[in-house]
Amino acid sequence: MTSANEQWVTRGERVLMQTYGRLPVTMVRGAGCKLYDAEGREYLDFVAGIAVCNLGHCHPQVTAAVREQVEKLVHVSNLYHTQPQIELAELLVANSFADRVFFCNSGAEANEAAIKLARKASPEGKYEIISLTGSFHGRTLATVAATGQTKFHQGFEPLPSGFVHAPFGEIEALRDLIGPATCAVLCEPLQGEGGVRPLAPAYLRAIRELCDQHGLLLIFDEVQVGMGRTGTLLAHEQLGVTPDIMTLAKGLGNGLPIGAMLAGERVAAAFTPGSHASTFGGNPVVCAAALATLQVLLAPGFLAGVAAKGEYLATRLGELARQYPQRAVEVRGMGLIQGLVLSESARDQGLAMVRRLFEQGLLLNFAGNTALRFIPPLVVSEGEIDRAVAMVAAVLRE
Ligand SMILES: *Cc1c(COP(=O)(O)O)cnc(C)c1O
Repeated sequence: MTSANEQWVTRGERVLMQTYGRLPVTMVRGAGCKLYDAEGREYLDFVAGIAVCNLGHCHPQVTAAVREQVEKLVHVSNLYHTQPQIELAELLVANSFADRVFFCNSGAEANEAAIKLARKASPEGKYEIISLTGSFHGRTLATVAATGQTKFHQGFEPLPSGFVHAPFGEIEALRDLIGPATCAVLCEPLQGEGGVRPLAPAYLRAIRELCDQHGLLLIFDEVQVGMGRTGTLLAHEQLGVTPDIMTLAKGLGNGLPIGAMLAGERVAAAFTPGSHASTFGGNPVVCAAALATLQVLLAPGFLAGVAAKGEYLATRLGELARQYPQRAVEVRGMGLIQGLVLSESARDQGLAMVRRLFEQGLLLNFAGNTALRFIPPLVVSEGEIDRAVAMVAAVLRE
């Protein structure tokens, strides 16, 4: 007799394109930091939809907002205004450097919009964008071209032109890439997919200075690290560097598909009616979800709690690294995005460790082929962190 999980997995494998290395499980329900599969088995979720379900699964305030909105209005064209979209944009503008917002449906689309805006807002002949090696910006052709990892390029050439990559951390090399066609620098304040690699504040400041000297726009991709993940609403608030354009997506709607591209007035003015559009972008239901999400994140004390739990997680992971120096060499991250960097010799065990932890009921993933990535819902408790750390310790010990 095959289990309910196996039956669903078999059906899925038959009809879905094989684009994901999925674990053999079918999830049916979620609550807070817990997920439940087709057989009622419980998992402690330290993936959170890849930094998406920041308030945990099925947060009551988000669920209520969605329920209320689907009964009122699900969709109208962007030929008309809707209340949730305006309220969400107002709240994003009030809590960021930006003056205006464009809504879309995903991180890749937000970055596409940022790339288009950077080109449109730049003088004739300036179109080239410099991004960093190890970066991840999405899976559309332009965002794949911007992504600084060749494994995402292979088989899809020719890629759109106008993208070059500067070696991570090397400011001189970035300066050397700036030419007459350069219009912008695009980077993540912390590379998530690249293996939880923060950019040093001094490096980011130097990038900002180069942009100012050469009249380039600075674009921050905060798709993964924005929305409270690092202990401030936006990661760059802690780094003392302000971008000209910023993108958000993953955590924005706590699981509903929404992306946003934000900019200051001067840059945003380059977009005029007809410049860019999205049929579903800023849909009332996803905006209602994002509005409720943002309200919870901005409630007094919430983000300070994220910062405190992030420090706790980093401390506990630091103990692990000291305990198992042959397996783990470093802990790095900001707030509740932390990476336990595996030693060179343990890296080929990364996926096997993820599999082992899954079998024991902990969901975690292996980022950039270097680090076990801890991105729990921001509502995680210290007790849940302790449980996860204990399970990882057991697997490192094996
Ligand atoms: C996930 C991610 C993207 C792409 O987002 P999608 O919603 O999958 O298109 C872009 N940039 C960063 C930094 C990401 O982590």
